[in-house]
This record gives sequence, C-alpha cells and structure tokens, in this order.
Amino acid sequence: MKRIISDLFEYSGQSHIPLNSKQLTVRDEVKNKIINGLYKQEERGCLCGSKDCVLIAKTDRYGLPLDTVICIECGLIRTNPKLTEAAYKDFYCLEYRDLYMGKEYGSIKNYFDDMVLRGQEILNILLKKRVGIKIEGSDILEIGCSAGGILVPFLESGARVKGYDYDQRYLDYGKQRVLDLDLCYGGVENLKEENRQYDIIILNHVLEHLANPLEAVQLIKEKLKEDGVLYVAVPGLTNLEYFFSPTKSFLGGLHIAHLFCFSPQTLVNTLEGFSPVFIDSKICAIFCHDAKGQISLRFPKKNGYKEAINFINQYEYNHIYRFGLFLAFRIIIYKRDLLRRIYRIKRLVSSKSITHIFSRNN
Ligand SMILES: [Zn+2]
Repeated sequence: MKRIISDLFEYSGQSHIPLNSKQLTVRDEVKNKIINGLYKQEERGCLCGSKDCVLIAKTDRYGLPLDTVICIECGLIRTNPKLTEAAYKDFYCLEYRDLYMGKEYGSIKNYFDDMVLRGQEILNILLKKRVGIKIEGSDILEIGCSAGGILVPFLESGARVKGYDYDQRYLDYGKQRVLDLDLCYGGVENLKEENRQYDIIILNHVLEHLANPLEAVQLIKEKLKEDGVLYVAVPGLTNLEYFFSPTKSFLGGLHIAHLFCFSPQTLVNTLEGFSPVFIDSKICAIFCHDAKGQISLRFPKKNGYKEAINFINQYEYNHIYRFGLFLAFRIIIYKRDLLRRIYRIKRLVSSKSITHIFSRNN
C-alpha cells in the first residue's frame, strides 16, 4: 500500500539537510552503490511478524533512495527493503562516520567531550528516576560506546565500566584519553561469550541500527542482574532533537543507518520481557525486568499505528506552517531591503539633481 506523506518524501536525489563537501561526496558514493546494486537490498517483515504496511517515504534525509514503511499491526516504522548485512558492514566501515559526523561534531575530540556530557545527563536521569540506584561499585555495560565518553562519569563515580564498539579508531582514541576505560571491539553478540552480569546496561542510540533488535533484547535480558536497569535512548518519532532538517520535517529523522524509527509505544512493544520505569517524549527510557515493572499497566504493549500516523500528520502540518512562517519572514525582510534600496536610489537621484541644479546656477 502506498501513502507517501507528501511530495517532499518522494525520491528526488536532493539532500534535505545541509551537507558539507565531504558528506556530499560520500553520499554520492553510497547512492551509486545502491543504484548499481553493489549495496544489495532485501525485503523483511516487521518485528511483530506482520508484513502489512504502508509506504510513507521513498528517500532518506541525505537524498538516498530508501523506502520507509509503517506496520499496520503495531505502528513500528522501518526501512524496507533494507541493505543486506554484508552491505551494512561495508557501509559502516567505509562511509558511515563521514556521512553522519561531518556536520555535527567535526572531530573525535569534540564528539568525545560531547559524549562525556551526555554520560553525565544519563547518570542524572538514572539517579533521579530510579530511587536507590547505586553507581559506586556497580557493573556498567555500554553497547555501541564509540570512544567511551558516556562511560567516563560512571567511572569517575566509582563504577566498573565496559564498552563494546566496532569502530577501532574511536576505541583507540577513548583508551588513550582515559586509561581506565575498558573498551572492546565487538557488539551485542559478544555478550554470548560473557559470563558476567551487569547492574546497568546502556543502549544510547543503538537499537535503531540493529538488524535484529529482538535477539539483542533477549541477550541483554540474560546479562542484566535481576534488579538491574536498562537505559535506552533512540532518535525516534517524537524526538525532535535529532531531526536535523532546518524546517524540522519528520524527513530529518529518516536516515540510511537507522533501520527503525521508534515511538515510545513501539519501543515498549519491542523490549519484550522488560517494563518501562520511565519514558519521555524524547524517547529516553529506563526499563527493568518485567517482574519488577512499576508502570507496565499504565503503558501496556499495544498497536501504535494510529498514534504514529496522527503524530506524523500533525508534525508535517506544523512543518508546513513553520515553513510558511519562515517564507513570510524572508519576504518581509526582502521587501524591507527592497524599499530601502528604492529609497536610497531616490535620495541619490534627488541629491544628484540638486548638485546639477546648483552647478548650473553657478
Ligand atoms: Zn509490526
């Protein structure tokens, strides 16, 4: 079924966010690989098992030719078809960082510093929302830790920390910046070989990148202590902070590396065996094992389709409204400049004619 949100969501090959020259080069390389079939794509159903979906976009924010659909049965938004596992492996090795990082951070150092601040925010959320949580002496694990910046405030608070990531350059940088950071090459599948359990597991903007989040959730469940907590943050449907589009269209949230776009409801649906202790509209959430759930009855698993569609429609309406205001503002500024210019020309002409009259009389 096809119901593209608006013409903006059709494929045009144009980027919908500002890109620097490096990003443009990388974007074109990825685009050619997709069009020429070097990056193969494959169909896949929703995490709920359904294949009934509505096509809502044929492009991502970079102007890459990717289809996004929403599941009718549960409301989860996913890329379909998606790149194959082999294509994603190459993409993450060759293009991901340059495509993603160009605009926002510029250097590993800036990114690391930013992540340390993010780590402090996460620590504060955990202390505030999970009464009685102890950081000192606890075991903390972060999957997809990049250079490990988020783990620094936990380490400084006396916790034992461990992080996994596939970017060796970022891991090396983190280990060189903070010697006590235990950072390893790998991902969630490395947990299969671990016999250690953790008090806090952090998934900061990771779940949306995983091809098989349900398997990851089960592995994490096994490695989380009975009274442990899982911190999850995703750039999702109601999280405007990560929509880099200047006019803040929902399109800004569609990104080749994001296989899913969650709402608070579809995130709750995905985390099978967990109950939310806290979840906000920015989709920062704390979960604990189902049996220990505090608000699971207030936030049951259900179909989030209508809610998601309503949000997108409302958001795009607001986007058009904002864009209209932006245009009106530009016209006012332009007209004011135009009037000023006319006024200046008139003054120039009249002063010249006065000079002319004056010189003629003399
Ligand atoms: Zn579904």
